[in-house]
Amino acid sequence: MVKRHPNYLDQCNVFFSCTTCHSQLISQHDIVSRAFQGRHGPAYLVEKVVNMSLGGNEERMLMTGIHTVADISCHVCKSKIGWKYITAPEKSQRYKEGKCIIEKSKVIKECMIE
Ligand SMILES: [Zn+2]
Repeated sequence: MVKRHPNYLDQCNVFFSCTTCHSQLISQHDIVSRAFQGRHGPAYLVEKVVNMSLGGNEERMLMTGIHTVADISCHVCKSKIGWKYITAPEKSQRYKEGKCIIEKSKVIKECMIE
């Protein structure tokens, strides 16, 4: 019997890459939440980002108060893609420390077949 739908999705390693230069930035497994808000719209909260450069620490007023954050840029093309939470003001926000916000509009979902 001929399979109409190849089962490549099972073997597919889903990751998100830079919309500008297609460098791989985040793995699907590192996404903590898909319900965050970036500066330009919806964003992901992620555990770690690869191929990125970190800017200097700065205090920024966000929806949940003043946080110390550092901008994240793509290491290859230098596009700003989000920010990293360095410190959060309140206990309820501490879970975000060390995690990163990545703007959904700055990354593209891709599928790598191993
Ligand atoms: Zn890039």
